[in-house]
Order: sequence, then C-alpha cells, then structure tokens
Amino acid sequence: MSEGGRNGTSETTLMERGMASLREACNQGYGVHEETPCTEDEKPPDSLLLREATPPALPHPVHPSGCLRIPRGSFPLSAHTRTFKKAFFPHVSGSQWNNWRWQIQQRVRNTTMLERFFPLTEQEYRAVECASSRFPFAITPYYMSLLDPLSADHPIRRTVVPVIEELHVSPEEAEDPLGEERDSPVPGIVHRYPDRVLFLVTSFCSTYCRYCTRSRFVGHVRNGHGGRRRWAGAIEYISSHREVRDVLISGGDPLTLSDEALEWILRRVRAIPHVEIIRIGTKVPVVLPQRITKELTRMLRKFHPLWMSIHFTHPDELTDEVYEACARLADAGIPLGSQTVLLTGINDSVDVMKALVQRLLMARVRPYYLYQCDLIPGSRHFRTPVAKGFEIIEGLWGHTTGYAVPSYVIDAPGGGGKIPLLPSYLQEVRGDTVVLKNYEAKPFYYPDIHG
Ligand code: SF4
Repeated sequence: MSEGGRNGTSETTLMERGMASLREACNQGYGVHEETPCTEDEKPPDSLLLREATPPALPHPVHPSGCLRIPRGSFPLSAHTRTFKKAFFPHVSGSQWNNWRWQIQQRVRNTTMLERFFPLTEQEYRAVECASSRFPFAITPYYMSLLDPLSADHPIRRTVVPVIEELHVSPEEAEDPLGEERDSPVPGIVHRYPDRVLFLVTSFCSTYCRYCTRSRFVGHVRNGHGGRRRWAGAIEYISSHREVRDVLISGGDPLTLSDEALEWILRRVRAIPHVEIIRIGTKVPVVLPQRITKELTRMLRKFHPLWMSIHFTHPDELTDEVYEACARLADAGIPLGSQTVLLTGINDSVDVMKALVQRLLMARVRPYYLYQCDLIPGSRHFRTPVAKGFEIIEGLWGHTTGYAVPSYVIDAPGGGGKIPLLPSYLQEVRGDTVVLKNYEAKPFYYPDIHG
C-alpha cells in the first residue's frame, strides 16, 4: 500500500485492522439487514421494481479452466466471491445473492458502509466524503468481492473507490469533454456521425467508475434521461431521420432498466424501418452479472441484429460469474465486443492488457476499442501518455491472436469523434517499394503496384 493510513496508521496496523474487520464481519454478518439509502440525486429507476427474476436454465459451456460448469440452471459463485459472501453476508441465500435487484439495493454507497468491508486510507476516506457530492459512489456487493481489502493500490479498487486526486481539476479538463451536449438535437440523443446516433436512456449505473466520461449527468437523477416521455421524443427523432441506420443505446447503464422498460424502448426502435442495427453499451455483465437472466436474453434476442459493447477494465473482472453472463448473451446470438479505457496503474502494461484480451476471447467477447482516457474533471491521475497506448498495441499485435487486438482510439476533445491510432508499421515508400516493419521490428519490403 503506497499511501499512509488515516491518522498516520502504519501499513501493518492497516492490515491488522483489515483482518480484524473481516473477523468481526464474520461474527456479525454485516450487510444482511443493511438498508441502502437512496438520495434525491441518485436512485434506481422506478421501473426496476416491476418484476422478480427467476433462475435461468441454459446450457453451460466448459469453463476456461477446463472444468465442466455445474450445477446447471443456476448462476455460478466463484470461489473468491463465495469466501467474501460467507464473511460479510453469511445469512443471505444463494438465490438472494444472485438476485440482481437485491444486489442493487445492497450497494455500498458511503464511507460507513465501505469501512465495514475494509479500512480506508485517510485519502480514500476524504475522497469518498468529498468526491461523491460531485459524482456518486456506489459498488454492488458482487463487485465489492473483487476488491483487495488490504491494498488501496489494487487496480479494481482504484476504478471504483475515489482518491483525493479526483478533486484536482486540470486546465485541459471539461465537464463535457466530447462536446456531446452540442451534438444533442433532442434530450437523450447525441447525433455526431452521419449514419448513427447515441441514445442515452438512463443516468443510473449499478456501480460508478471514477473515470466516467459522462460524470456530468450519470448518477444525477435531475439530469437523467429516463422516462417514457423522454424516450418517445428521442425515438421520434430517430424515426424522422432516415439516415440513421445504427442506434447505440447507452446511458448510464441501460441494463439497469427492467426488462419491460428496455423492451418498450427496443420494440419502438426496432420498428423504425431504416434502423438496421441496434447496439447496447453496458458494464452490467461485469459489475452485476446476475442481471443477465434467462428472461432478459429471451427478450433481447427478439430484436436482432442486436450487438453489445461491454465495458471491461482488468483481467481479474473475468470471473466465473462474468463468463456465465457472457455465455448467456452469446448463446442468445448477440455479438459481444469490449470497450476498455487505458488507465494508469490499472491496466497500462502489455502483460495486464494481454491477459485481459485473451480472457475476453475465452468469454466470446471480441476486444473492440482501447480508449485513451477522456479529459473529464479530476482524471489526470488516470491518464497515460499516448506512447503507452502504442507500446501496448505493439505488444499485442503479432504476439497474440489478431481477434484479441483492439483498436486504440482517442475520442477527440470537443467532439471530433473517435480517431484511430496505430504504431507506424509502414516505415517508408521507396519508389515502387513499401518498407514495412513486422511485429519483431524486422524490415520487410513489398513491391507496390501503381494503378
Ligand atoms: S458504467 Fe459507464 S456510464 Fe456507468 S459509471 Fe461506468 S463508465 Fe460511466
């Protein structure tokens, strides 16, 4: 742990506190009777409460470890998460744990709740207290189980637990770094590219990423994009723009809506004759995999061609639960792609990124985009040099399956759109000869033809 503990607590003492906290939780069964408060600013959509999910019964593939996944018909519980659940939620049944609404209701939302799981450093404590007024803080119990209680530097922990650097706004940063508001003709629609639109259907997420590009409205219900009246206005816009052949449904996280609400949207978008494909952007399969129920996949498969972009950050996110969620989506015929933000100290190394993309292929998810971190307020500590992105792509290209190599892009500040960046494999053009560099940095020569 690099940071000192609160009140000058030493590293050893913090570890002792961590273990003591764990022991105490084991004895008391923390979280079982906990009520999660919802503030004015951030609460689940009303439609979330419509209907209970029932356990699915889909065929289970062979687990990447080589073991057959059992039992059939239930959601898996990985060994690590099982230990966490036993320590902190000993009286919660497996079916309750796997109920996605229960997971949302039990989210960790403040320092008091967080400190029941592990001791916070002084900086984390102050950051959670201060930063969550600007951008909410919430973590599902499932995703909490992936955090290292003894290290504030743990990669997944850093993505969801605020740090004090988040409060420092640099001059180059902006509330709306991609200029989406400027390209928004009606509430909930961003129309930047010629043939496609972004349709923001909610401002709610089950777990909040500290580097969220849309932190200007995500988690704040007053600036939300939910509600059928707003959705209807956005759908009317899509319907009246015949050039739109691709609709990306995002937010917030659309998969936090109830099946009924999501189907209401999908049915109307699919009914528009010129809309060819629908995409959903989500992090739910990673932070709330229990949401991927049999009912959900049965509903989604009615709206093909339907694609899904899933937001992954680190290879440790690929748990048994997440493999299961992705398998259910893939079995429903939904092509899956990943979107990953390059983040300092979290995934900014070739080894970590290679492990991530290779595990993604095992989960039938095609690595799609690797994003340079956007210039949102308080993001400097997350941002990497652009050279780091090149280093990672060079470390992947030729060194692993081509399907595993994502496109490295910068979403241009101010609204220029995504710009692809590729290390220079084309060295020069000498007359009729193209000089190339291969993945081992060896030169090769290709005789070109001039038409
Ligand atoms: S899941 Fe997406 S929208 Fe939600 S907080 Fe994370 S980055 Fe933002």
